[in-house]
Amino acid sequence: MSTSTFKINFTGGIIPPKEIMPILKIAHKNGARDVSFGLRQQLLIEVSSEDKYHLAEELDTNGIEYEMDADKYPNIISSYPAEDVFITRGWLTEAIYKEILQGFDYKPTLKINISDNRQSFTPLLTGNINWMASDEDNYWNLFIRFPKTNTIYLWKVMVASKNLVEYSKLLEDTILSNKDKFYDKESADGDELMAAIQQQKTFDTKPSAEAINLPTFMLPYYEGLNRYADDKYWLGIYRRDEKFSIKLLYDICKLSVETHKNEICSTPWKSLIIKDIRQSDRILWNNIMGKYQINVRHAANELNFQVEDNCKDGRELKNFLIKHLHADDIRTFGICLGIKTRRKSEIFSSILVRRKPLIRIGKFEFFHLYDILCAKDFNPNERTAYVFSSNNYRWLLPEQLRRAIVSYYTFVNNQVNLERKAKMLKASGENQKQSTAEYVYKCPRCSYRYDETFGESEFNIPPGTPFTDLPEGFICPVCEFPKSNFEKEKNIH
Ligand code: FE
Repeated sequence: MSTSTFKINFTGGIIPPKEIMPILKIAHKNGARDVSFGLRQQLLIEVSSEDKYHLAEELDTNGIEYEMDADKYPNIISSYPAEDVFITRGWLTEAIYKEILQGFDYKPTLKINISDNRQSFTPLLTGNINWMASDEDNYWNLFIRFPKTNTIYLWKVMVASKNLVEYSKLLEDTILSNKDKFYDKESADGDELMAAIQQQKTFDTKPSAEAINLPTFMLPYYEGLNRYADDKYWLGIYRRDEKFSIKLLYDICKLSVETHKNEICSTPWKSLIIKDIRQSDRILWNNIMGKYQINVRHAANELNFQVEDNCKDGRELKNFLIKHLHADDIRTFGICLGIKTRRKSEIFSSILVRRKPLIRIGKFEFFHLYDILCAKDFNPNERTAYVFSSNNYRWLLPEQLRRAIVSYYTFVNNQVNLERKAKMLKASGENQKQSTAEYVYKCPRCSYRYDETFGESEFNIPPGTPFTDLPEGFICPVCEFPKSNFEKEKNIH
């Protein structure tokens, strides 16, 4: 049966109950029984092709903006759902988020992410215009990912909160009116875009740091009824099949309105978070969970998956992998697993399972193989660093994924040991030889670093041998990864 998907944006993942209630009613009346939420925190309603015209008509009549089977106006995503709950308070408060989000007086066609810099619950850099709160009150760092590319540019100035919306609009206009330079061009030049913006208008800005450290990935447990302040609880709901029954959502909205006017937040994990629940109302919320048989104790190695929106194949693959992860009782703490089946999608992940067709005829694909890719430092906010294993059959995937996961823990362990060793060397006195190299070369798989000051005694490489002079067959002495995969990085003495 063919279906259509209606998408309704809720800016920043903030869903006022009074706004979603009429939509739920209309959707239910037109054949939908459940809805879901997408990676960009948007509401998704799937209906049959017969029902879609009625649904469209009724949404139009009620002045509700939507897109049918389209995403020309991607939702603005934000870390608002995590604020207060998973993020310790900084200058970015719920009120500041709201002021900014409500300030958007245009409909962006580029993807905008607005994130706190002290969290990794929501993806920082999956947008085109990625704002990240800086350590300085009311100033934002900006990372541009040029549309349809993986080219990321750290903006040289930080922008004040009050200018964020106008700045975003100017960026979008400038990028779209210079598509030959900035759109679908891997070679897009950030400095050129900066110059173009600065020429047009002066904003309240401050120079940005030369490099910004992205927060280490840590996924909080985002389910269940939990306390986060004296008399405040939050409730997280995750659904294995991504589907939320309309009746359940309607009851949640009604209870919100009746009790404490709680907001509902949608998260990029396709889950919901309801904040600001009072202790005395806990029983009412628990009642709803009981009435709809909502399980809130899923295993951690199920909650850390990212699957494309409306992707049945992706969900099936996720369930297949979860079964194996459960059966083998595999720890996944610290990792986010992504599944990618579509060519141009951006999936937030430390380890990515990428499906590719063996044969493609038009839009039809036949026989699939799977690659496993790891992000730099296994940080999902970073770009892909290397292919862990490629061209796997599906039946081989669980074992290959397990190995990739194990390699993450090896990486972390080596990282910790290296730091400890460096500290000990430093503490043991001045006689130790100091590194003089400007750059070191890091094995992306295990974080071993080649430093030419020391060479590598294991392979009889004498001190002073530049990385480029290492023999062709040089491999990482720790994990045996070939030298061609090593990454150059600035040496921090
Ligand atoms: Fe290595």
